[in-house]
Amino acid sequence: MTYRHLELTCPVCGYKIDSASYAGAPDRDNHVPPVDDDQSVCLACSSINVFTLRGTALRLPTADERAEFARNPEIQRVVQALITAKDRSDSWPRAK
Ligand SMILES: [Zn+2]
Repeated sequence: MTYRHLELTCPVCGYKIDSASYAGAPDRDNHVPPVDDDQSVCLACSSINVFTLRGTALRLPTADERAEFARNPEIQRVVQALITAKDRSDSWPRAK
């Protein structure tokens, strides 16, 4: 369920991200790397970022993308699950 990729930096908090899980996309082949415009939810700060530069970097979403993410129940489910898990854990990853 997890794809390991080059270490990327969360543009919001600076946390180093080296993997992606295709939550909400059960048919996605986990051996295929993320592509541009795929979303990434940061484990440390729960921000939603977007893959760019052929999946080798993360960028902040545009205003339109942020609005789209806010309306997407699958994305909101993932974000809420991460926030809940983070709140219950004493050893959750933190931004560097
Ligand atoms: Zn972050």
